Amino acid sequence: MGAPELESDALILHCRDHGESDKIITLLTKNSGKFDGIAKGANRSKKRFVNKLELFSFLHITYQDSRTGGLSFIKEADLHTSFLRLRNDYNRYATASIIQEILLYGIGEKEPDHQVFNLTLWAFHQLDQNKQQANILYLYLIRLFDLLGYRPDLSACLGCGNSEISRGFSFNHATGGLLCNHCQMAGAASLTPLSAGTINILKKAMHLPLEQLSRLQLSQSALAEAGKLLHRYARTLFQRELHAWKIAEKLLTSDT
Ligand SMILES: [Zn+2]
Repeated sequence: MGAPELESDALILHCRDHGESDKIITLLTKNSGKFDGIAKGANRSKKRFVNKLELFSFLHITYQDSRTGGLSFIKEADLHTSFLRLRNDYNRYATASIIQEILLYGIGEKEPDHQVFNLTLWAFHQLDQNKQQANILYLYLIRLFDLLGYRPDLSACLGCGNSEISRGFSFNHATGGLLCNHCQMAGAASLTPLSAGTINILKKAMHLPLEQLSRLQLSQSALAEAGKLLHRYARTLFQRELHAWKIAEKLLTSDT
């Protein structure tokens, strides 16, 4: 008697060969969240898996959880979209790798969240179609942090409550909120200055319906400020450097 057979839409976050013919893959699934599974015979089977179990692919899978809490068994996979450009185009690959790294280290196992799944699917689709990689990445991250419970508070100065956002506001990475120029302590290292325009467009990005999100276009200066804010905030939240971001940093700033 095995565990019940389950099915879900899924995105591949990581895959590696295991032995001669198997593959171990890390999936972000709509119904079961993130988990590791083994596809037996993936490198041999012509029908079930061939050309489907590739990094960033969007699939529908049938799977069985392991009784012992180990790897799940991937039984079948149907390809929705391979997102080929995310693997073949270096800029796209570098940007998608930042999302990959944040999801691999930043979210728990088997904690399904349809919104995180749908947002990530949106981002892969946009990165695959759209040349504005930094714009898509930053819109994705500001929404993802919100969904993970780390919503940046951009409504008012956390020090004095001043909600008339104007010049001189900065983002404090430790508190996840704004400080006006009167409340900023001299020499505080973890502040990123933000213009009122950047604050407004980031607030908008958190509220728009997902199907309208790709219409938001950050200006050059907003991209530069948002990139700095999100990179530093991610490092503070996850208490680690994001290697993929270090690698992609030059691309993200030149692509703007
Ligand atoms: Zn203040």
